Amino acid sequence: MSSQFPIAPRPEHDAQEQGRKLFAGNTDFLKGVVAMDGMPPADRIEVCFAGRSNVGKSTLINALTGRKALARASNTPGRTQEINFFTLQDSYYLVDLPGYGFANAPVDVVAKWQRLLKSYLSGRATLRRVFLLVDARHGPKEVDAEIMSLLDSSAVTFQVVLTKVDKLKAADQDKIIAKTREVLAKHPAAYPQIVLTSSNKAEGLDILRSIIVTLV
Ligand code: GDP
Repeated sequence: MSSQFPIAPRPEHDAQEQGRKLFAGNTDFLKGVVAMDGMPPADRIEVCFAGRSNVGKSTLINALTGRKALARASNTPGRTQEINFFTLQDSYYLVDLPGYGFANAPVDVVAKWQRLLKSYLSGRATLRRVFLLVDARHGPKEVDAEIMSLLDSSAVTFQVVLTKVDKLKAADQDKIIAKTREVLAKHPAAYPQIVLTSSNKAEGLDILRSIIVTLV
């Protein structure tokens, strides 16, 4: 049903301005966390970015914050699977989850990452929303649906962000959006709106910023 999971509209002027101001402030890398006891105190609103490796997550975080190299632009399978915390002014944590879906990641690395992810998602009371990034050229894949199910069982609201829309052929757009809606309809934790972004063309960034600034 097309009225379900509409595309997020452009923000109202005030929300856009608030979002711009929030992200124009200081953003800093705080720490990379490999275990729950390393988490910073849950003392502010937190939003998290998740997605398959190569979906454009680092590029999006950098584009949102206007920082060229805030989030590391390469994630390699051998690398420690860290949850990276960034401070956004003094009022938010932006959290960068390691990319998932490496075809050749060692089984023990995947298992360790899944355990940490589960503990994080179910144990973080201040986590307001997960932005689940999905490549607009492909739509959600099986591995994305698995994360969605994990989010359902953790009762953490997630919102799908279709990335790299500049690479999506106009003729394919309706098909990909329909496919995304079909998948989302199976997931109770899905926020009923889809965000379209292109970091390259600065598309959808103001929408995401205004969504984040209005979370309480
Ligand atoms: P990550 O592994 O999810 O952090 O992905 P990256 O941010 O490193 O991006 C993976 C690749 O996609 C890089 O080559 C980026 O330049 C490219 N990319 C990221 N965002 C966009 C976008 O909005 N449009 C296009 N065309 N390419 C993008």
